[in-house]
Amino acid sequence: MKITYAKRIQQLPPYLFAQIDAAKKKAVAEGKDVIDFGVGDPDLPTPRPIIEALYQGVLDAANHRYPMTRGLELLRKEIAHWYERRFGVLLDPVTEIHSLIGSKEGIAHAPLAFLNPGDVALVPDPCYPPYRGGTLFAGGKSYLLPLLKENHFLPDLNPIPSSVLRKAKILFLNYPNNPTGAAAPLEFLEEVIHFAKKRRIIVCYDNAYSEVSYDGYNAPSFLQLKGAKEVGVEFHSFSKTYNMTGWRLGWVCGHPKIVEGIGIVKSNIDSGVFQAVQLAGIAALKLGDSFLSETNRIYQERRDLLCEGLLKIGWKVTPPKSTFYVWVPVPQGKKSAPFARELLEKHNIVVTPGIGFGPSGEGYVRFALTVPVERIRTALSRLKSFQI
Ligand code: PLP
Repeated sequence: MKITYAKRIQQLPPYLFAQIDAAKKKAVAEGKDVIDFGVGDPDLPTPRPIIEALYQGVLDAANHRYPMTRGLELLRKEIAHWYERRFGVLLDPVTEIHSLIGSKEGIAHAPLAFLNPGDVALVPDPCYPPYRGGTLFAGGKSYLLPLLKENHFLPDLNPIPSSVLRKAKILFLNYPNNPTGAAAPLEFLEEVIHFAKKRRIIVCYDNAYSEVSYDGYNAPSFLQLKGAKEVGVEFHSFSKTYNMTGWRLGWVCGHPKIVEGIGIVKSNIDSGVFQAVQLAGIAALKLGDSFLSETNRIYQERRDLLCEGLLKIGWKVTPPKSTFYVWVPVPQGKKSAPFARELLEKHNIVVTPGIGFGPSGEGYVRFALTVPVERIRTALSRLKSFQI
């Protein structure tokens, strides 16, 4: 029988990370010593207290049954405490917080709750791919907002045509930003709230990297701004903060009706997060600040080593003050995908071509700092011959 995929699948661009992974696996299978700056997947282990909380949770038969989709009350209360401690934001754990099977899951499902076919999502370009994928699955259209260096990688909301604004229901934003490493000033977030209120657009703010920062920078929550909770929600992840990418745990919080909408979609698709994993999440949120400062110290050392090394050989790099990504312009006249291929083929170094994050990502490649310093040193010595 010939199997035909639905148009929505056919319209998807090939998933970038899967392509990179295939190229990397091929090189590894050929016996090459590959250094992987590709996917932003922390190489550091999940802290011990989190693992122990999971273990205790697994032993308890009460956790072997279907979880509540909204999430354990204990977890939602702990998230509310964390938000108050970290951002001074008060959240109602009953109506304003919902657990997610990783923030990607909630982000990709959100458009199903708010877009009708033909509606528009305003999406940054370059961006984390599920904003566009989720919009496509909901029958919506992505209107791309270029993130340009000359505008500090912030979108300009002014030139969006009114024909687009009339159909726009969602605005996705992500700061600290993947892939550019940019941070959002509070004045920009105020502008966003004003825009969203005026145009009745839901803000889906992805704050997956709020805890990864350097040089004393402290990333804000969108929800700490006045009026934010009236227009939006914030997505959070345990993945990057606590080295828990494999565990699949995140949450969405903010406007109760928006949270509920995402919850309605989810209750028809999944049955929540394994409760033992939720208990592990509680242990994560209770970890002291020293864990985070140590993790950030490690990433900062890697950032400094990589950026200084690249600058020395003539690459024009601006060190990010948050996220573990370094967004590097490719040599003039080169395109990001062939350049990334060249790095892999000639130097066994994997980076992500900017074009994979959207058309405005062209001209850049992304290095993820999920590689130990010794390997960064080796990568730099390989690149010495690669002056640009
Ligand atoms: N948001 C951004 C910007 C990301 O880069 C990622 C993962 O790379 C996620 C969300 C998803 O994280 P999670 O593991 O919670 O699904």
